[in-house]
Amino acid sequence: MDITVLLPAGRLPLDLMAKAHDMAEKYGLGIYLSTVQNLRLLDVPEERVNEVKKELAAVGADFKGPGKFPLPRVCIGKTYCKLGVIDTEEFSNRIMARFKGRTKTKPKFKIAVSGCVLCCSGVKTTDIGINASKIGFDLYVGGKGGPHPRVGRRILHGVDEDTVLNAVEKIVEFHHTMSTQKQRMRKLIDHPEFPYPDEV
Ligand code: SF4
Repeated sequence: MDITVLLPAGRLPLDLMAKAHDMAEKYGLGIYLSTVQNLRLLDVPEERVNEVKKELAAVGADFKGPGKFPLPRVCIGKTYCKLGVIDTEEFSNRIMARFKGRTKTKPKFKIAVSGCVLCCSGVKTTDIGINASKIGFDLYVGGKGGPHPRVGRRILHGVDEDTVLNAVEKIVEFHHTMSTQKQRMRKLIDHPEFPYPDEV
């Protein structure tokens, strides 16, 4: 079995890294840093899953599970990149502070955040993508990869943080109301009641 540990903003605390190392060494596990910036422990023996999770939880690990609001995938941001105009870790934390109380979020949408218009975290090919720029935030919706990749629709341009987060809330609510099963945003953006029909 695999265990996925959620890493907000892709950050791996040292004590968690040390504990994952201990568990991997003890049980011969593989370690994989996933494309959505989480930490996966691979090939955990079935009978050790609870024990490994308990050890990791003791140093603050939170685990992937149904209904959880998706952690944003972020670029490194202005603290470490001279082109960045926002601290992406801080922004990701603000998104999670606002939405983590949603315990019944339906799958299957992802969020990406970039610190500038270069969009290194894949903002334009993610269900909900936010990039900062010198004039404010842009919001894209409906981007996807896969065998039929699509660029998202830019629905806000150069707006402030509150405006962008209010729009994210509206889109997530729409997804919740309109989805009976897992659903990419792409399938919803041409619905006649989708609140942002126009590209800006
Ligand atoms: S998107 Fe911009 S800020 Fe983020 S890593 Fe790329 S160049 Fe730097």
